[in-house]
Amino acid sequence: MNGVKSWIKRDLKNIWHPYTQMKDCGDTPLILIERAKGLKLYDNNGNFYYDTISSWWCNVHGHCHPAINRAIRRQLDSLEHVLFAGFTHKPAILLAERITAIAPRGLTKVFFSDNGSTAVETALKMSFQYWQNTGKCGKKKFISLDRGYHGDTIGAMSVSAVGLFNGIFKDMLFRSFKAPAPYCYRCPAGKTGKSCSFECVSGLEVILKKNASEIAALVLEPLVMAAGGMIIYPKDYLVRAAALAKKYNVHLIVDEVATGFGRTGKMFACDHVDIRPDFMCLSKGITAGYLPLGMTLTSDEIYDAFYDDAYKGKTFYHGHTYTANPISCASAVASLDVFQEEDTLRRVKGLIPFFSKRLEKFREIPIVGDVRHIGMIGAIELVKDKKTKEEFGIKERISPEIYKAGLKKSLILRPLGNVVYLFLPLCVKERELEYILDATQDVIEKFT
Ligand SMILES: *Cc1c(COP(=O)(O)O)cnc(C)c1O
Repeated sequence: MNGVKSWIKRDLKNIWHPYTQMKDCGDTPLILIERAKGLKLYDNNGNFYYDTISSWWCNVHGHCHPAINRAIRRQLDSLEHVLFAGFTHKPAILLAERITAIAPRGLTKVFFSDNGSTAVETALKMSFQYWQNTGKCGKKKFISLDRGYHGDTIGAMSVSAVGLFNGIFKDMLFRSFKAPAPYCYRCPAGKTGKSCSFECVSGLEVILKKNASEIAALVLEPLVMAAGGMIIYPKDYLVRAAALAKKYNVHLIVDEVATGFGRTGKMFACDHVDIRPDFMCLSKGITAGYLPLGMTLTSDEIYDAFYDDAYKGKTFYHGHTYTANPISCASAVASLDVFQEEDTLRRVKGLIPFFSKRLEKFREIPIVGDVRHIGMIGAIELVKDKKTKEEFGIKERISPEIYKAGLKKSLILRPLGNVVYLFLPLCVKERELEYILDATQDVIEKFT
């Protein structure tokens, strides 16, 4: 026990944690994790926690998966890193082949980076430069969705919802167009299921119609606006938005950083519909949650607009030091192997009906306003008043209290505002799922 306390003290002496009001670390102490296996994280007091949010949406097959551990060790003994300009390596080549083979049709080229924000920045810069390279020089702006989230670097923040995490930085950001979010529970047009006629799509079209000559790309998270509150929206919205991008000649950038790699029950959220994005951004689950890696996929058409004699200035001058790190790539390839060997998506498909049905029962709780789910993602939006949908204020500290109550039940619940969510590793077993859902219900009912 004392041992742990002294480690935490040493942590607080030097470390500044992300998304954390460090003052809260007194009231909610940091947890020192010693090891992990499958769904469980163990501290050294003999406690364990179900990793119900996949260690920030990146763990896929569970912690310390033997096959992925093995692949990483093997790679480590032959090549740990090499610069990626003028040089290449087999793990990157294999990974690019494997990803383009399963990606939406037409996404044939891969540009590597090292996290989700950089995968998005790469797409933004490529789209921007594409229009410069092809003589449509006025197309310099972007359009994205209210409540969207695409990362924490300046460019990614600029196409994210202002206010959510980054209101303070708004004067640093470049201006971009924002279309209404397809947030059905709090429909911006005040509609409900039956009366909906996709007013949010019309909102998007109005902006595109007026400004398309200035817009390079539409950026969105397909089907799940994750950080914005696990807002799961109708497939039809995605299909219609993609069609509008085509109609008005702007690129479609799909940010699958959170939704990629089986989260929604299919390999990519885009696989639920038939669309052809110009860019797809991947990270988080790509290495099964082991190592940093980012990837921006695009088409031959985009690639070809940069392919010319060097003196013509069409080169894409962008890169990151750890681009395509071989150990990261090896772990990504190993993860794709596990998807095949364990038939992960089929196993998950078997669990989804139970998961969805059980989640729907949360609607009976007086403070539950909405329940949303897709694949192994579930969200429960808490409200003060079901009828008026009145929200809990930040001072009511619902989120930190839920977090603390969750820990007592071995769950990691880090609500996004008033949205309690589960973002489960795909390796979750039915028995574990049952416990997790029952315990989550207990936690929420405590606040009723
Ligand atoms: C997390 C996230 C990002 C940013 O990824 P980082 O690796 O944290 O930079 C971008 N887009 C979406 C949709 C995300 O969920």
